[in-house]
Formats: sequence, C-alpha cells, structure tokens
Amino acid sequence: MHPIIDVHCHTVASGHAYSTIEELTRTAQTKKLEIIAMTDHSSGMPGGAHHYHFYNLRVLPQIINGVRVLKGVEANIMDFNGRLDVDDELLSELDLVIASFHPPCIEAGSTSDHTRTLSSVCENPRVHIIGHPGDSQYGFDLLEIVRASKATSTLLEINNTSLTPASFRPGGKKIIKEILTLCALEETPVVLGSDAHFSSDVGRFTEALTLIQEVGFPEELIVNFSVKSFSKYVPSLIEQ
Ligand SMILES: [Zn+2]
Ligand SMILES: [Zn+2]
Repeated sequence: MHPIIDVHCHTVASGHAYSTIEELTRTAQTKKLEIIAMTDHSSGMPGGAHHYHFYNLRVLPQIINGVRVLKGVEANIMDFNGRLDVDDELLSELDLVIASFHPPCIEAGSTSDHTRTLSSVCENPRVHIIGHPGDSQYGFDLLEIVRASKATSTLLEINNTSLTPASFRPGGKKIIKEILTLCALEETPVVLGSDAHFSSDVGRFTEALTLIQEVGFPEELIVNFSVKSFSKYVPSLIEQ
C-alpha cells in the first residue's frame, strides 16, 4: 500500500530546513500524497518560527498544488511536566500538533523522567502525535507509553529520518523496532512521518516501511494509508 499522508514536514520557517511550502507541496503532488502537514519548529528551538508564523497560517489556502495542507507545529517539550513552548490558545488554532524532545530545549533526564513526561504529553488533548519517540537520548518505558498512546489516541510517530544514515538520533532503529513490536501486540496504531527538512524527502518512508516489513507490523495499524483512518486522530480534518 502507498502512504498518502505525511504528517511531519519542515519549511524554511524552521530555521534549519531548506524548502518552501510551495516546493514541498509540488513534491508531494508528484509523489501522489493527498495530505501533508506543515509542522515547523516552534520558538523554543534556536531559529524556530515565531508564534506569529503559526497564527498567520490561516492566510494559506487549504489546498496548495493539489495537496491538502494541514497547518501544524512541532512543539518542543520544555520540562518533565510535559510543558510545551506553544500556548494552548495557539495550539487550539492548529490542525495538527506534534510534541517532541529536542536536545537544545530539554536536557535528557532519567528513564522515569521521560516516561512521566510523555505520559502527561499524551494526556494533553491538544497534542495529536509524539514526534520521533525512537531517540535513545530520551529513553522511556516503552510499554507504558504505548499503552498511554492507545488510551489517549495520541499517535506515536515512526519517524523515517531517524532511520536514515543522516540521522542525529543514533540507535533509533532498535527502539523503533521495539515500539513497533509492542504496538502490534497491544493493537496500537502508529503514524509515519518523513520529518523532511528538504522537499525531496517529503513522503519518503522507505526506511520505515522496510522496518515495518521486517517486523511484520500489521498494515491496518498504520494510519497513513487512508484519510478515513487518519481523521479519527485529527478531528479538524472532518470539521472543515
Ligand atoms: Zn528540525
Ligand atoms: Zn523533531
């Protein structure tokens, strides 16, 4: 099956990504994607977008170059209580919210610190996706978070970039494999994200799909193959 949704894409507004939304959607159209989410880094990340960038996303059309564009953010988790660097009012304006650990924003703590943090992020009704949970610097109790993901309908991302040689997250493959194995056992859906920082990587899921095959992960637990299964997790898609 062909993924038609990419939930994690960065534009020049992220400060360390190199394509515009115009370029990303053109590539997405070529790759036969139906939906991409524009999830630039928020201001806690050095060079990240100012909150005005996110408020003003309303000026963009819903469909650009034939591709539905979800207006989103990759927010930074700032402390072990799960506080984000984007306030609730702004989060509620956006179609899609990813929350992630990033080294410049939060120093790694213990496994129990990260587990507690991710549990409370899952409980945050504004957050749809936990970004790249396969980061060995921020290890957590996998089973506990897989269960929290299922209980709160907060998707765990299978991040393709974490699996490429260019990744800044060494050791990711082992953790992602374990997450997939547990999600299969617990019947917990996951979402694929490219984490593209350049247009040619939009919709690139090669490494993730290879791993998924290796693990024998059930396709019906991946939400990127149909708008219907994805929209259960992102209500704004139906409302508009
Ligand atoms: Zn980035
Ligand atoms: Zn990230």
